[in-house]
Amino acid sequence: MKDLRTALEQRRRDGLYRSRRLAESPQRPERRIDGRDCLSFCSNDYLGLAAHPQVVAALQTGAQRWGAGSGAAHLLAGHTAAHHALEEELADFVGAPRALLFSTGYMANLGVMAALPRRAGRLFQDRLNHASLLDGARISGARLVRYAHLDMQDLQRRLAMAPAGERLIASDGVFSMDGDCAPVEALAALATEHAAGLLLDDAHGLGVLGPQGRGTLAQAGLTPDADIMLMGTLGKALGTFGAFVAGSEALIETLIQQARSYVYTTAPPAAVAEATRAALQLCRDENWRREHLQSLVARFRAGAAELDLVLMESSTPIQPLLIGETRAATRMSEALEAAGILVPAIRPPTVPEGEARLRISFSAAHTQADVDRLLEALGSVMRR
Ligand SMILES: *Cc1c(COP(=O)(O)O)cnc(C)c1O
Repeated sequence: MKDLRTALEQRRRDGLYRSRRLAESPQRPERRIDGRDCLSFCSNDYLGLAAHPQVVAALQTGAQRWGAGSGAAHLLAGHTAAHHALEEELADFVGAPRALLFSTGYMANLGVMAALPRRAGRLFQDRLNHASLLDGARISGARLVRYAHLDMQDLQRRLAMAPAGERLIASDGVFSMDGDCAPVEALAALATEHAAGLLLDDAHGLGVLGPQGRGTLAQAGLTPDADIMLMGTLGKALGTFGAFVAGSEALIETLIQQARSYVYTTAPPAAVAEATRAALQLCRDENWRREHLQSLVARFRAGAAELDLVLMESSTPIQPLLIGETRAATRMSEALEAAGILVPAIRPPTVPEGEARLRISFSAAHTQADVDRLLEALGSVMRR
């Protein structure tokens, strides 16, 4: 295994080495990480629900009622009334006939891709789609066609050129490293025009965008139907863990029969489903979380523009600062950390070469004062 060491050392020399930090407190803006207190801007806990007392209480009560583990796959004996109720509530939330829980978003995307387009089919994906959608394409065996980021003309051209057969278009709703949004209406129109299905991965839009946080589709006035499928994750804005796919009755039944990442895995704990039900209720009821989040983003963008920072085109809580060179981004992230502020540097291969960035993400649990502290630290790091 000498080759592993060589490759690891090369990775370190290239400034691409990844390592984990050790958190010693719950997911909140003020966190104890690697032995020191800091202000964190790197979670996907957009609504501030991960450590919310009502969500934690639902997890506790759920564990008392259902135990710690589900003990089996959904198709054996792992599917409880808690999972079932959550599926019904999620379907109702996004306006779909049905929803199906998966253990993670990664597995949900793999499951849909593996079950849907047959080998002879074509899968059209935005170049910047999440890794799980791209990995799903490999598993499906269908031909992968990648189109330029958000470029509907490019997609249209590629659809028109493709031979007849099954087609599926897949796109992130909100792009995880850029914070920009897919043109959902145009995607849906192209899908209809070219007899393609559409899978929208709304990991970063659900809970954040649209009325009551119903997501990117709802913001565009659309709901899942026979041709539009929605994948939503529960570990981001909803603060818990897991994912779901929403769509037609026939889609959900197909996934239950054929999605291997659904069939061959243990159902998530029922207590987690109970916690998610509590989180979903808070998400629906508390609009102030989304309003506050928007005001934090506005304050940050105004302040960053004053500092002449290079913002990206984003109105979501994901606010990347484009730095460019990988080492420069790493150095800035380290300098911020020395000032007690946690902002991760995102490097290739997660983003294209030469587009390293600081990925700042906001949560409804942040205060305006937190944003000011971040801006102050960014200002002093930039001056150096
Ligand atoms: C996080 C993420 C996923 C994976 O979801 P998990 O539940 O964390 O596995 C899928 N797609 C996108 C766009 C994501 O950001």
